[in-house]
Order: sequence, then C-alpha cells, then structure tokens
Amino acid sequence: MSAERKHREEIVRYGRMLHQRCFVAAMDGNLSVRLDDDRILVTPTCVSKGAMRSTDLVVVDREGARVAGRRNVTSEIGMHLLIYRMRPDVQAIVHAHPPTATGFAAAGMALTEPLVCEVVMGLGCIPLARYGTPGTSELAKTLEPYVPHYDAILMSNHGVVTYGDTIEHAYMKMETVEHFAQIALVTHLLGRQQPLSGVEIEKLMLARSKYFGHKIAASMPAVMARSPEKVS
Ligand SMILES: [Zn+2]
Repeated sequence: MSAERKHREEIVRYGRMLHQRCFVAAMDGNLSVRLDDDRILVTPTCVSKGAMRSTDLVVVDREGARVAGRRNVTSEIGMHLLIYRMRPDVQAIVHAHPPTATGFAAAGMALTEPLVCEVVMGLGCIPLARYGTPGTSELAKTLEPYVPHYDAILMSNHGVVTYGDTIEHAYMKMETVEHFAQIALVTHLLGRQQPLSGVEIEKLMLARSKYFGHKIAASMPAVMARSPEKVS
C-alpha cells in the first residue's frame, strides 16, 4: 500500500473515532497529515467525520491551495499550515470540539493544574489560547505563542487542537485532553483539588525525557500554574 493511501485510511479511521466518541458533531473537526515538504493531506469542509471516505480527502500545498481532490478544503486549514510551519517535527494534526474540554475553553479556563501524573508527563499542561474567528488568519495567530511549546491547546469558545509525529499520537492526545478535562471537572464538582508539588512535577519531567525522548517534541510543556518555589 502506498504511504499516501495508508495516511488516507488512517485519517478516515481517526475521523470516525472522533465522531463515535462525540468529540465532534455534524460537520465539525478536521484532521491532516504532512505527506512531504510541499503537500498536506487534509479533510474537506462540509463532511461528517463519521461518514468520510478516503476519496473525500484533499491535498493542499504549503500555501493551502488545493492540488488534488474534488471537495473544498476545510476552512480551518490556516491553523494546520501554521502548526506545520512552526513545528517541523509535527506530521499530523487533529482538531475537534470534545464537550468537556471545550466546556473549559468556553468558560475561559485553561487545563494547567497539575492534577494527574500521566498528563503532566505526556502533555505538561494544556494552555488556553484567546478567541479567534474560525476560518480567518486571526484564529491561527491566537495559537502562535503556544505552538512551539505545547502539543495540545484549548481554543477559547471553540475547541481543542492536538498534534504529533503520527496521526495516531495526535488523536491519542485529543483523547487524553478530553479525559483529563473530565477529571478536572470532577475535582471542581468535589470542590477540592490536590495538585502535584513542584518536586513531584520535576521528577515527572525527568521521567518524561527518559521514557519519551524525542518522541514528544514540544520544547518544554512546563506546568504554568504552579512553579516549584511556590510549593510549601
Ligand atoms: Zn473547530
């Protein structure tokens, strides 16, 4: 099977999973894979990610102009182009509106409290970018400060974007963000949070570089909400 055909089938599979898990509704969400230096394979606009065929996908150049495919490219292509431009290590991007994480984004709340060790180790934290109108260059601009440092970003009043070295890893980060948002929500319902200490966070960061090495390539997804010197 050619590499492009494999990527087409993977995008269809993870698109269906986004839909099955209610991470998207109607025609929402988009996924892409970098095919080579000049071409990106991306989902079209106005297609349910639960009923997409591999032939629905579109290939665009690094400017976002369509070079293959019949359908129109997603209106959120600017966000994908920005991430590929800023992060040469990124090979795939997933954007969705998972309800709990998007609830935090709609409440103006970042997911930056270090509440769960696996999340600190895998993603550091999930910052909240300010609001930008979808389909405009304004949206991509809001993400710009975070893209070099984080692999998952909440988009105010909109949703979540995650990315990685494969579409599988990009998708898994989306699951992690939504799962963590549910856990964070439960701590809010319980009225108590017990964040990890700065010392414990440092140990996780060490373990992170040992276990994941270059596979997690965000430069330093530090936990922003809490610095070691503040810990008692
Ligand atoms: Zn969206």
